[in-house]
Amino acid sequence: MTTFFNCTLFDGRTDHNTPDAWFTVNETGRLTARGTGTPTATENLVDLNGQYVMPGFLNVHTHVTADPQSFNGNYGQTEAEAAVFATQNLQALLKSGVTFLRQCGTKYDVDVALKRMQADGKLPHTPHFLTSGRAFTMTGGHGDGPHSGNLVDSPDEMRKAIRQAFKLGIDSVKVIATGGVMTPNDFMEDPQLSTAEMHVAVEEAHHKRRVVAAHAEGNPGIQNALDAGVDSIEHGFYVTPDEAKQMAAQNTYLTPTLIAEWVIPAYGKGHLPDWEVKKAADALDDTYVNLTKAFQLGVKFTCGTDAGTPFNGFDLTPKEFGLLTKLGMTPAQAYQCSSLNSAQLLGVADDYGTLEVGKFADFQVLKNDPLADTANVVQADKQVYLGGHREF
Ligand SMILES: [Zn+2]
Repeated sequence: MTTFFNCTLFDGRTDHNTPDAWFTVNETGRLTARGTGTPTATENLVDLNGQYVMPGFLNVHTHVTADPQSFNGNYGQTEAEAAVFATQNLQALLKSGVTFLRQCGTKYDVDVALKRMQADGKLPHTPHFLTSGRAFTMTGGHGDGPHSGNLVDSPDEMRKAIRQAFKLGIDSVKVIATGGVMTPNDFMEDPQLSTAEMHVAVEEAHHKRRVVAAHAEGNPGIQNALDAGVDSIEHGFYVTPDEAKQMAAQNTYLTPTLIAEWVIPAYGKGHLPDWEVKKAADALDDTYVNLTKAFQLGVKFTCGTDAGTPFNGFDLTPKEFGLLTKLGMTPAQAYQCSSLNSAQLLGVADDYGTLEVGKFADFQVLKNDPLADTANVVQADKQVYLGGHREF
């Protein structure tokens, strides 16, 4: 049993800090008690010196085999390179404060093998994660690249492919409902997988109590994915008020991946054609308007960054929260996209997300108050703990 004391605690459930807080963590890594003032003595005492404690982040949308410095989808990557690269990126995510993540499309399905190694204790300093394997997409669709897509062109092909993927060992499903914003000859207004194809994915995944994420940037693809019953819309940049109402009513989450759009105008000048930088900047302006409306209409937002897309590094998750406040959220509401909504979407809220008794003690220690300013979570030398063990 270890007691951490002398800290200001934001537990991710409430909207405020608890000053002069302490908490105990047992041998299995779970929180067993919490309080304020002088802690009950245990064999190990850790003085946090008046710093701030908050939950580790959940990031529900990453691509750990993708290289943010490569603009061709790093097509030359071998499976060995993908595995080593993915391991380094998992470690970078944990160092930035991400203690749980969901992959949303993985080359060569290497996440499945990596998770087996992690379970055997052979992947040190990596966060908890749900695997996705390769994304399900149509022939020629978004994500149809070497070793990156499960190509399906009918409901029957979807059923077969998804059953094979579950046999392989994936934990979650990613389907492609529309084209993408930055890809040539592939536009976000293009619907891709059909409602019927995606519905089969939802049916098979839900039989196994697994969740389905749909890449859906524009219309009519967002509507198709909602009608198919997916659990989350990823990106959702052009969500309409009617779609937002449907999402709130049927409890479909929205993962806005704002940082993925923000980095293109911020870092792309001189690396990308001017028209592409302008297109991304315009899309970001539209996104803020559409998603602010969706938030007002009661849509639940999650935290996901699309890490691995151009310029979108594996250390940037903390910057997503400042962008979420541009949708009208308070800092606490922005963090709850991670601590509450992301954990609920992934079905892990009994064990992860908030710092409450009974859950795993996955947390970060910060010098400055995260509720005073979202910039305070972007601290490069923060302390990161998994189950009460310091990892960084
Ligand atoms: Zn993505």
